[in-house]
This record gives sequence, C-alpha cells and structure tokens, in this order.
Amino acid sequence: MNPTICVLGTGWAAEQTAARLKAETIDVLRIAPTADPSAATADAEPGVIPAYLAAIQADPGRFTIHCRSAGSSAVYEAQAIVIAEQAQRVSRCAGYGLSGGGHVLALADVIRESRLLPDDKTVVFLLGLAGESQPVVTREVLDLACRYAGRGRAYLLIGNLKVAGQGLEALVQDCRTAGVVPIKFTQTHPVIRQTDTGVVFEFTDEQIGEPFTILADRVVVDESFKPAAALQGIAGLLRLETDAEGFVQADNVHRLPVLTNRSRVFVAGPGRGALATEQVLADAANVALEVQQLIRETSAAAAVSAAIQPGHCVRCLTCYRVCPYGAIRLKARPEVLPEACQRCGICAAECPSKAITLADVADAVILDRIEAFRRETDSMQAPFIVVFGCERSAGLCRDAAGELGLPLPQRMCFIEVPCAGRISLDFMLGAFNRNAQGVLILSCHEGNCHSGQGNLHAKRRTAYLKEMLATIGMKPDRLHARTLAANMPVEFAAVCREFEATIHSLMLS
Ligand code: SF4
Ligand code: SF4
Repeated sequence: MNPTICVLGTGWAAEQTAARLKAETIDVLRIAPTADPSAATADAEPGVIPAYLAAIQADPGRFTIHCRSAGSSAVYEAQAIVIAEQAQRVSRCAGYGLSGGGHVLALADVIRESRLLPDDKTVVFLLGLAGESQPVVTREVLDLACRYAGRGRAYLLIGNLKVAGQGLEALVQDCRTAGVVPIKFTQTHPVIRQTDTGVVFEFTDEQIGEPFTILADRVVVDESFKPAAALQGIAGLLRLETDAEGFVQADNVHRLPVLTNRSRVFVAGPGRGALATEQVLADAANVALEVQQLIRETSAAAAVSAAIQPGHCVRCLTCYRVCPYGAIRLKARPEVLPEACQRCGICAAECPSKAITLADVADAVILDRIEAFRRETDSMQAPFIVVFGCERSAGLCRDAAGELGLPLPQRMCFIEVPCAGRISLDFMLGAFNRNAQGVLILSCHEGNCHSGQGNLHAKRRTAYLKEMLATIGMKPDRLHARTLAANMPVEFAAVCREFEATIHSLMLS
C-alpha cells in the first residue's frame, strides 16, 4: 500500500515539500494548521485542508490526526508527518527606538518593493544592533545594501554579526567594493533620533575615535524570525523538542537536516529556523529521501525495539516521561511503538520494575558477557576494567583505535551500548559484582547526545553510585565517567590507559 504522508503547514515550504513527495509518487495529505479553532475556515489553497489540530495520536505504523474545521470534526490517518510551517518576520524597529513607516522601512517591504528606496538618497541599513542577526537576514540586508550602493549613499551599521561560513564574508567584501560604508559597533551604540525629515545617527567611530553624524533619508531595519503561531501547538501535540526560540529540532546536530526527536516526524524549512530558499528546497528533497527510506525499513523495526513485560509493569509511567522519542503510548498500560523506538535503552535503565527489555542489550546478556570475559582473562595480572561506551562515540573510537593499532588496556572488557542512557546502575553494579576492579563510563559530549539527555542520565547515575561506593567503603575512583566525540580514537585510548593506571595504583594503595 502506498503510504500517506501528512504535510502540516501553510505557504511555500509546505507547497515545495508536498510537490517533492508527490514527484516520488508518495500520497500527500496537506493540512494548514491554525492556532485558533475559530479561524479554521480561513481561505485555503486548493487541495489544502485548513484545520485546528485537536489531537494527534501515534499508533503502530500510523498517526491519527483529529481536526476541527468550520464547526465540524474530521479524522485523518498518515504514516508519517512533515512539519513545513512558515516562520514569521518580526521587525526590530522597537529595539532601535524607531517607529515604522515614512522614512523607516521594514526589510521585507524593501525586498518586495525596491522603489521604496529612491535614487540619490542617504540610506542606512541596520543589521544586528538590536540582537544577533540570523544568517538569512544578514544575507538579505547585505544584498540590498550592495545593490543600493550603485544608486545612492549606503551606510551599513553593524552590531552582533556572524559572518563566518555561508559565504557572508565574501558578501561583506562585495558591499565594500560596491561603495557601501560599513560601520561596526562592538562596545558602543549609535544615538538614534527619528525626525520629520529622516533619522539622525550620532556615534563615535570605534576604530578612529572620531565623532560622526549621519542624516539618513531612509533607514532599512533588519528583522528576526519567530516560529509560526501554530508551531507551538504542533510541537506540544507531538511531544517534539524545540529550541529556545520555539523552532523544532532543538539544536541537536544528530537531527540535521530534517529529523526530529520523533520517528516518522520530519521538519522541512522554516519550522526548524530561519532558512534561505535553497535550504528549504534541500529540506524538501531530504524529506523525500527520508520517507523513501522509512518505507523500505518499516518491516525491520519491530525486531530491535524495546518491549514491556506486562506482568512486571507497575504503571509508574517513568518510561513514558523519559523516552526522548515519544515512542511509548499510554493505553490501558504503557506500550512501545516499535517503529518509533530508537533503541536508546533509557526506559530500560530507568524502569524501577525492570519490566523493559531490549533484546541485544538486556541486563542478562550484558552481565553474562562481562562474566565470560572475566573467566577467559582470569589468569591475567593486569587490572580487570569494564568500559561501557556509547556506540555513536566511544564505539567508533574503539574501532578506529584498533585500526590505528593504538595500545589499549590488556584486560579491558568493552561493552557497546546504543546510548549512554542505557548504562544502568545494574550494569555498573553488575560489573563490580563480577570482580571488575574499575568501571569506566564513556558517553558523548554534553549537548551532543543523539537522544538528547542519555549522556546526562549516565552522568547522574555515575555520580550517585560513586557516593554509594564511598558509603560502603569502596574507593569511588574505581568508577569514572568521561565524554568523547566519535573522532577521538587517540583520546579514547589515552583515557582507557589512564584509567587502567589509576586502577592499578588504587589496587596497590
Ligand atoms: S517504567 Fe516500567 S513499571 Fe513504569 S510504566 Fe514503564 S514499564 Fe511500567
Ligand atoms: S528504548 Fe529509548 S526510544 Fe525505545 S521506548 Fe525506550 S526510551 Fe523510548
């Protein structure tokens, strides 16, 4: 059966995404979500359902979308959801103490209508003086200033600006070549006065220390982007992580370009931030690729997901709260959605009733491996250490260290886990109970965990167990936690050897 993909959003990004999916012969359901139930009758594009989203329910293999529109209700089903909402432009006039209109022009208006800037005038372009500028906005302002410089006097008053990468440095240089006068403010701020005839800027140049005044006939004010009003509601319904501004994707590099923390929920275009046109088109293409891959992989999902043993579950809902991928749904009892589960194991490590299993990293499997390693290496004199490491960082480091021939501790049992969040207290204690002299926990760097907080769970458990070890008279340094990135095999080998040396000296003391 051809799957139906629901594209949620209004405007160009949604249009492009839907067109790209249709080009791959994927059935598309387009819904234009409104933040307000009474506004759901607003004019819609052909083939687009304007609706207030009342609920979205995740069931095995599909989402059920409950909509309200024009006083009636409707329910739709889709195998995956793509959020392709627009972002809203917000003028920064207030940040400069300016009122829009007359001599003070909004960036979007000038982009639409270049005639708003007459020839032979003095035009000041404001950029990043009232808050950090987003790269898309920076590019738009620099483009406009560059083009106007051939028609009149163009000043560019720049504040907090990131021009590294993305070709912006070259654009700043183009502006200079075209005759734009850039003035940068790092410590100071211009005094800005709006008059009946224009806008006056008074400032002291930070480079040469000389006072200057610019009488501007027109001022083009930069803008920022904020998420569409409906995005917050969508994120809430789907339990999606958002960044500080409310865009979906939550600054997690593992989710770039179009993934979210939910399996089968993608984000394309301005729903994930302020993006240039070419990035939106690339997102549409990437979503189409992800959807095709998802169709291919669906049948394999159940084999590797977490499973809840009904007889053991006491319905504490811990798993529902901690699952970073929204893969547990609440029915009469919690159930894992196999295709949404990304096998991080956080739920299994946190479940107080040990009711959750993950086949290849079940407690018994891991502890048996440690026991088997202990027996096999019993005759060795070197300290017996167990290293638990995330497969996305330490696991890759271990493989690379092997290929590079880097020396590792002689009696080191390396246990690879899907996420450091799987490293439970039972794993750590189980290793000590099987005579490990040291236990090393290796997770991804903070802010770089695929599962968001798996590394923080591991860190918290390690700190807790170290205190416990001290209480029962064991040396807390026998347990240690470090973070690594996937491209740090040399550091991986060094950390393991240092830990072996620490354990060696602890055993002698
Ligand atoms: S954490 Fe364990 S006991 Fe609690 S609801 Fe989930 S499966 Fe049941
Ligand atoms: S293993 Fe991870 S993704 Fe799967 S249900 Fe448990 S917490 Fe959620």
